[in-house]
Amino acid sequence: MFCQVIVDIVHENVAKPFTYLIPEGMKLETGQRVAVPFGHTEKEGIVTALTHETDIPAEKLRKVIRPLEDYAAVPSELMELAAEMAKESHCPLAETLRLMLPAQMRGGRVHPKTEKTARLKVSRETAEAAIAAERRSRKRAALLTVLLDGQERTVKELSGIVKDPRETLNRLEQDGLIELTDAETLRTPGASIPPAADPGYSLTAGQREALEEILPALRMGKGQFLLHGVTGSGKTEVFMTAVRSALSEGKSAIILVPEIALTPQMVSWFRGRFGPVAAVIHSRLSAGERYDEWRRIRRGEARVVIGARSAVFSPVQNLGMIVIDEEHESTYLNDRHPRYDTRNVAASRCGREGAVLILASATPSILSFAKARRGDYMLLEMPFRVNERPLPEVEIADMRSELEGGNRSVLSGILKKALKECAARGEQAILLMNRRGYNSFVSCRSCGYVVKCPNCDISMTYHIGSRDGMLRCHYCGNAMPPPNECPNCGGHYIRFFGAGTQKVEEEVQKLLPGVSTVRMDYDTTSGKDGHGKILEEFRSGRARILIGTQMIAKGLDFPQVTLVGVVAADLALNLPDYRSRERAFQLFTQVAGRAGRGAIPGRVIIQTYKPDDPVIGFAARQDYRAFFESEFRRRRNSLYPPFTNLARILIESADEETADRTVREADREVRNLLAAHPEWQRKVLNVVSEPPSVQFLRGKHRRQVLMKTLVSRETEEFFEALTEITDRYRDGTEIYLEINPTTMI
Ligand code: ADP
Ligand code: ZN
Repeated sequence: MFCQVIVDIVHENVAKPFTYLIPEGMKLETGQRVAVPFGHTEKEGIVTALTHETDIPAEKLRKVIRPLEDYAAVPSELMELAAEMAKESHCPLAETLRLMLPAQMRGGRVHPKTEKTARLKVSRETAEAAIAAERRSRKRAALLTVLLDGQERTVKELSGIVKDPRETLNRLEQDGLIELTDAETLRTPGASIPPAADPGYSLTAGQREALEEILPALRMGKGQFLLHGVTGSGKTEVFMTAVRSALSEGKSAIILVPEIALTPQMVSWFRGRFGPVAAVIHSRLSAGERYDEWRRIRRGEARVVIGARSAVFSPVQNLGMIVIDEEHESTYLNDRHPRYDTRNVAASRCGREGAVLILASATPSILSFAKARRGDYMLLEMPFRVNERPLPEVEIADMRSELEGGNRSVLSGILKKALKECAARGEQAILLMNRRGYNSFVSCRSCGYVVKCPNCDISMTYHIGSRDGMLRCHYCGNAMPPPNECPNCGGHYIRFFGAGTQKVEEEVQKLLPGVSTVRMDYDTTSGKDGHGKILEEFRSGRARILIGTQMIAKGLDFPQVTLVGVVAADLALNLPDYRSRERAFQLFTQVAGRAGRGAIPGRVIIQTYKPDDPVIGFAARQDYRAFFESEFRRRRNSLYPPFTNLARILIESADEETADRTVREADREVRNLLAAHPEWQRKVLNVVSEPPSVQFLRGKHRRQVLMKTLVSRETEEFFEALTEITDRYRDGTEIYLEINPTTMI
């Protein structure tokens, strides 16, 4: 027998499988990891096929050294998925196969953890006799007594009862009374998260109607849904009921959340209902935790997987359902190689494995809602909140008239008043400020010079610290003290402008002395459980006002929150990206949805300098449909995705001349390619080689060839040809092809 093996070489993508001979007596299956000879060394690889014959002459064939596990690490469905993804994203199979395994498993960097355990080896009577006869050591008697019931106990447990039991245990083993073994223990992440009790709700009409479609589909093993439910309509309860049904039929489920910050809440709910069959997978787990959760899933012990994007590749057995919660979030797009859209990967898995796909959101992406309208997904709507709770009232604060009236604070009069009232009633408030730091930029009053990061073409943000304030670059993390005089004109009129979360927090503290606040942004959430601690401060009620960036807008459920303020709506609206309107609408609607989830109705105040902007209006009325229609029309009229593709060849180089030369050459190659292929040319609307909006980033000069194309088979061929160009130039320069990237800076 022979096998085809994709050899896994770090930093190198070997696209072709190599043929190896399977030694007599060794049993292998596809998807199994093996050690193989490669050149003069030993490498790891994955078996992609088994064959009875080969064209390779016998003297050239080398033998598989050994299997790395006695099971297929990548089950056959995921082997197929990896192959499909490699084909679609024009990348080597070795690269997509890596997605299917915990990274540290490669290169043997993680191992099962074992713990010594002890168990009685003799009959109870013999042991009791030994205890009675024991004169020398009280330790021996105590240990035997504990083990009398015949249960296995870890040495760690026993050391809680008897001090330093090791030596005594060894002697007991030598005497043949007990048996010591190395038992595998599993590292369980989030063990400290308390499981939430099942509240035993009776379903709302909306939930029941959604489930009436989902449950039969689950039994049939077929169906794709878009669950559009307003904030607080109880979407989670729908998933949990569906999961219960899947489990009872012996199936598994994967629940994806957009951010690691949201996993603890979900894990708590699912562990509360389903116990240890719930596993959690995300990138902040330790290597050991991740490996152990992965193995629990692979063996079928864990049948509900909760996690961020990468959990879509979990090797669950008998997949019944994949849920993508907050499906509109851009974190579901993987921008790095291999590029993929989690929603498409999930759809492909569900189709192949006979499972149901549920995309859920209060503000579906334009893309998904358009698909639902076309009939690709079945649309399920839950337009009402649970218990007939009203959606919050949204008011708009016109910051132009605030300024005219002499209010220079970041908080409008109406928001200040609302905050005071909210605090006086002992309720909680959330303030969204979509920029971290204290001041957003530092500039010279006499010459207009703006302090920029020396590594990036980006203005630096002022952060106050425990001792001194520092200017920080939000792109590369570079920090420096603010200048005393202008580096450009030497003048002494350096001033600080614009506001971030720190400034908002300071103003709130001035407004409401004695009311405790908590801030949640990138700066306060570093560390293993940064998110959890802050959210707990707020959930417990110790903090009354939560101030944060967009990370507070999603999925969180705090019933005491009755007031939400969007401090600077224009920050989101003014981003130079064709998706800024969609993202702004989602952000405002989601954050507004945090208000009034409990018994007391909520109030939302959106502060803006553009009160007439239609997006502000749609968000204020929380009218998703109207927003969708307007945005869909705009995308069609101005030829933006999903009606077209925006692709670019991005070039980055520390040397400006190299960047300039490469972009000129790439531009010429693209034009030559199109001239040679009129069938592709017809699908390409334009090719522009203007520099990107940020020309210098992390010490590198950036250039781009931007292309707008129609969506077609020919376009796919054109993109394939473009990857050949970028591969050719890669030597020495960084050059990538990006198709509809999540950011266009
Ligand atoms: P969504 O994700 O749609 O915004 P959630 O799933 O967070 O909404 O549910 C909102 C709140 O309503 C939660 O506190 C949840 O526990 C509660 N809830 C859900 N379903 C019911 C129900 N059938 N009866 C009563 N309360 C419910
Ligand atoms: Zn920088």
